[in-house]
Amino acid sequence: MNTLPIPSPGIYVLRNARLHASLTVGIDGSADADGFVNADIAVEGSRIISIAPHRLGTPPAPDAIELNGRIVLPCFVDCHTHLDKGHIWPRNSNPDGSFAGALRATHADRTERWSAKDVSRRMDFALRTAFAHGTSAIRTHLDSAAPQDAISWPVFENIREHWRGRIDLQAACLVGIEETRDQVWFAGLARRVAEAKGILGAVTYMVPDLEALLDRMFALAIKHDLDLDFHADETDAIDAISLRKIAEAALRHRFEGKVLVGHCCSLARQPDGDVLDTLDKVARAELAVVSLPMCNLYLQDRRNDQTTPRWRGVTLLHEMDARGIPVAVASDNTRDPFYAYGDLDMLEVYRTATRILHLDHPVGDWPRTVAQTPAEVMRLDDVGVLQRGGSADLVVFKGRNWTELLSRPEADRIVIRDGKPIDTSLPDYAELDDLMGA
Ligand SMILES: [Zn+2]
Repeated sequence: MNTLPIPSPGIYVLRNARLHASLTVGIDGSADADGFVNADIAVEGSRIISIAPHRLGTPPAPDAIELNGRIVLPCFVDCHTHLDKGHIWPRNSNPDGSFAGALRATHADRTERWSAKDVSRRMDFALRTAFAHGTSAIRTHLDSAAPQDAISWPVFENIREHWRGRIDLQAACLVGIEETRDQVWFAGLARRVAEAKGILGAVTYMVPDLEALLDRMFALAIKHDLDLDFHADETDAIDAISLRKIAEAALRHRFEGKVLVGHCCSLARQPDGDVLDTLDKVARAELAVVSLPMCNLYLQDRRNDQTTPRWRGVTLLHEMDARGIPVAVASDNTRDPFYAYGDLDMLEVYRTATRILHLDHPVGDWPRTVAQTPAEVMRLDDVGVLQRGGSADLVVFKGRNWTELLSRPEADRIVIRDGKPIDTSLPDYAELDDLMGA
């Protein structure tokens, strides 16, 4: 059992913690080659009251809890998920692991099974899982083709209220871009999204009228003062350039809200000259990009002819980061036809991202991709960083360096919320059995 002797008055010092310089504001100690600084974190109630470099040889204060160099990170931020689809795999799996198979199976499941009760229970299960793993903020997409919009948005509003103070929950509507051709219906959906303080979203495809449809989306976002969130180019097709089209639309409209674009897989398949042109536009338009490494490794380059996949499915995060484009990684789907696995564990996402995307040697600022950067995209203050005066929302690991942290599941991590350790036991899959029957 991995516990810390945190006193009930809630005044204590986490002594000799290893904090990452990229996720700690105002730390003045010098970082080691991995980017870590040894520090003492003083907590009072729900707040961090100081973060000071750890000085060897100083006697511990009476309220000190010795961490012996264990890593402490801020709670995670997961900016691209699909909580409404989560955990339907047992009743509607993907027969061949393909993108088309995922679309078909999800459509069938949604049409038959997504009552308010069904969506609500699966979402709550997912949120309890993410909370136990140490996540404090989540953006989910909500399938919003009629009639699902009328079911899922009220469920989301109730659940967001229920989870307030534990997980900051946001939602973006998810519709195929071609569905927005129905202008009256889509204007109504935008109003509904605005009423729920949500985000306007769509999946872009290279349809002939893509630019006109994007113009309409940007105009609606400006009218209702909404941020935008796209699924773009989740394909190996070289001619899929909707990321560039979104950047051009943002520049055309002088859009001042935030735009997050997910996937952008095809970018990794395109000629260098085209890639550079697109990335320059993305940087100028100040778009942010999220890569979904686990889901895209699963779905992209899947071959059902008994041959082996040859590419990784992720987008060009290094090239984006070099241009100052804010980049994040996130969970995407969990145990649904788009991804058979996953548990909303952002340490797993970061571990997998490190391996697929080479976010190491040096690690640099890459830890920001699962904390501070997505928090900024989601407009969340005091989330995804450790700072004096900030919330005492942090995760204490066993690992003392990257090779220890990323080699084991760290299932016994300690999650501290508002200064107090939480119960990190995970909900039992059996809880959902009654929803999975025929
Ligand atoms: Zn997605």
